[in-house]
Amino acid sequence: MPHKGGRSTDSKDGGPQRIAKLLARAGVASRREVERMIAEGRIAVDGFLKVPGDHGVFAAGDCAAALVDGEHASVMSCQHARPMGRIAGHNVICDLIGETPIPIDIGYYVTILDLGAWGAVYTEGWDRKVAVTGAAAKETKRLINQQRIYPPRSRDPAEILAAAAPVTQAPPPQIHERR
Ligand SMILES: Cc1cc2nc3c(=O)[nH]c(=O)nc-3n(C[C@H](O)[C@H](O)[C@H](O)COP(=O)(O)OP(=O)(O)OC[C@H]3O[C@@H](n4cnc5c(N)ncnc54)[C@H](O)[C@@H]3O)c2cc1C
Repeated sequence: MPHKGGRSTDSKDGGPQRIAKLLARAGVASRREVERMIAEGRIAVDGFLKVPGDHGVFAAGDCAAALVDGEHASVMSCQHARPMGRIAGHNVICDLIGETPIPIDIGYYVTILDLGAWGAVYTEGWDRKVAVTGAAAKETKRLINQQRIYPPRSRDPAEILAAAAPVTQAPPPQIHERR
């Protein structure tokens, strides 16, 4: 993943190196083209999260822009970064061993805006239709920020590996006000 400043500190002599130079050397694109990608902030990837070209480079998360439903580009969010990471990792291995990769296909989009003591607003769809508000929406927000975004905390290798399965989770539950 390119560093925001376009620099890496991983050179053999320990000093900073230009990411564009490293990627150009790896055959990703010309140095000028890599610099353009970094300036844009994101790298356009195909439906399998592969950077176009025949160099076996994949990108996921905030640094990549993929069409998640054939129409909308991925948003710099944990909602998209997490499945992108799982599927990109899977597809890297498929690429190495000649297996069929999995396309990124996320058929829903939700947002939950935390509004402090008042609660939160849960919206559905790219036009952000309000579905749940107040304390109930905040409960869902907490479920995401305190549970869903973390890998299993059990330290159980099998459970951690299972959590890396190349799947897209169902939308977070809509918790409605208890009356
Ligand atoms: C304050 C804040 C609040 C947010 N809240 C939400 C939210 O409520 N909901 C939501 O959906 N999204 C939220 N986001 C966005 C979400 O965190 C990101 O979209 C998501 O983390 C992107 O995942 P990523 O794996 O692409 O990058 P990151 O999670 O940023 O992971 C990149 C990793 O790469 C490491 N790294 C960077 N450069 C190098 C290098 N040169 N060598 C080695 N390692 C390197 C970094 O240290 C980091 O660990 C929030 C972001 C911020 C900053």
